[in-house]
Amino acid sequence: MMDSLLEYRNCPNCGRNDFTVLFDSNMDNGDFQEGIETVYMLPGGRYGRHVKCGYCELIYVNPIEKASKINDDYANRKSGDVSVIRRVRLRATKSQAQLIKKYNNSTSLLDVGCGEGFFLFNASKAGFITKGVELSQEAAAYAKREFGLDVEANPFETLRFPENSFDVVTLWQVLEHVPHPLAILKEVNRILKPGGLLAVSTPDIGGIPAKIFRKSWWNIRKIHVNQFTTKTLKDIVENAGFKNVSCACYRESVSLLMLFMPVLKSPRLYRPLRGLLCPGSILGRAMDKIMLAYPSRLDNATMIGFK
Ligand SMILES: [Zn+2]
Repeated sequence: MMDSLLEYRNCPNCGRNDFTVLFDSNMDNGDFQEGIETVYMLPGGRYGRHVKCGYCELIYVNPIEKASKINDDYANRKSGDVSVIRRVRLRATKSQAQLIKKYNNSTSLLDVGCGEGFFLFNASKAGFITKGVELSQEAAAYAKREFGLDVEANPFETLRFPENSFDVVTLWQVLEHVPHPLAILKEVNRILKPGGLLAVSTPDIGGIPAKIFRKSWWNIRKIHVNQFTTKTLKDIVENAGFKNVSCACYRESVSLLMLFMPVLKSPRLYRPLRGLLCPGSILGRAMDKIMLAYPSRLDNATMIGFK
């Protein structure tokens, strides 16, 4: 029964079908029926079978849920309590906007998988004319309502922007979610202007937290179907036709409130703590203001490349 929901795939970078199994899935039928969960840095989730390509070394989940099911799940994704992440995401994405500004001062910027629009809001403030694409109807509505952003709630690959449309295209924490990351990057290359800038960031399975926590690393999750390192992320970006590809880093942030939210997922703790820790409470507000900043490269691979 599970097989009908799944599809096997070749390596999403090099296209070969030559892999070794790193570890097996811990999911059952029920986990597959579920939509997309919202968790913050919660170790010990559900995950699919992780394999490593024998040729290009990319780690990817194989098999995965059918791409159409994945897209539907994202389209219907509930944003959860955005107030928990708003302040901290606005701060981290400001640093991302500053990073882009260092490389490119041109005008038009497209953010693929823009979520609630925190990065686009900061990019607009930094002077870019922005556009966003987001599968989640609810997140796209938030971006329009809260920040007045121009966001299309459709799959990026179906939009087919004209060639040479944008000076900058960004994909923040997107490639780990998509069944065909190389196809997405090639499409980004097509719609960028000559000399245009790509910025892409994903969790880094070669990073220190991934090495310490292994299968319990918070980025080993059902919804992450590709796991990059700085090497394999650079490879796939170059494979898609980008030049002068190099590692970059921005200032990532996490709030004390975000770190405590996983506690509320436990039903036994939920009731007594929910009122105390909600973002509207005095304690919640205080914990929202306590933020820890760290260099993104600690847990993420970020690449800059040019068309
Ligand atoms: Zn490969």
